[in-house]
Amino acid sequence: MKLVFATANPGKVSEASNILGDKYEILTAAQAGIKEDIPEDGDTLRANSLQKAQYIFEKCGKDCFADDTGLEVDILGGAPGVHTARYAGEPANPAANIDKLLREMQRREFEASIMREFGLETPHATRKARFRTSVTLIVGGEKHFFDGVMEGRIARERHGGGGFGYDPVFIPDGCTVTAAQLSPEQKNAISHRGKALRAMAEYLKKQ
Ligand code: IMP
Repeated sequence: MKLVFATANPGKVSEASNILGDKYEILTAAQAGIKEDIPEDGDTLRANSLQKAQYIFEKCGKDCFADDTGLEVDILGGAPGVHTARYAGEPANPAANIDKLLREMQRREFEASIMREFGLETPHATRKARFRTSVTLIVGGEKHFFDGVMEGRIARERHGGGGFGYDPVFIPDGCTVTAAQLSPEQKNAISHRGKALRAMAEYLKKQ
């Protein structure tokens, strides 16, 4: 089965191909003839994944899916969330995003330590975080939604050269290394996108 994936990110395409297996041929938006940037300006992950999938479907009429991912960091009150891709501003820049994330967390931890020194109540400084993915599948013109979450914590510095995005600073629960130090198979087995795409594959299998 051919499915167009509404992304230009080669890291995501290779993850999705590994997760979905060889029953599915994944085409990028460009391979389906869509060269322009796909709009994503919704207020939630689901709104964004729906917007991207709908855009592809309206342009080429093919079965397709889109994902949108947010990183939620507890000490930042759930930020960057829906702003994860452009946390450090336009244009999206993964290295600058990580720099800003580490800086903001350090600032919050420092503020919390000062408050404690003055005997003020402060929420426990934690580095807990999670990736959340929302996938929208459009097949035969019908929309279906699948979600996935990977819990973990943010490292103090980058480690590893695999993966993409925030992987070098994200340590998944149950791991002692970052997602960028895992093999693609190890990451896919536990990742937010792995969970959402396997749920999508299960749904497609039943059709
Ligand atoms: P989007 O799903 O392309 O909108 O991704 C939002 C942001 O999250 C981008 O900065 C991605 O690089 C980042 N991101 C998405 N998935 C992952 C992942 O599996 N690991 C690390 N960063 C990710």
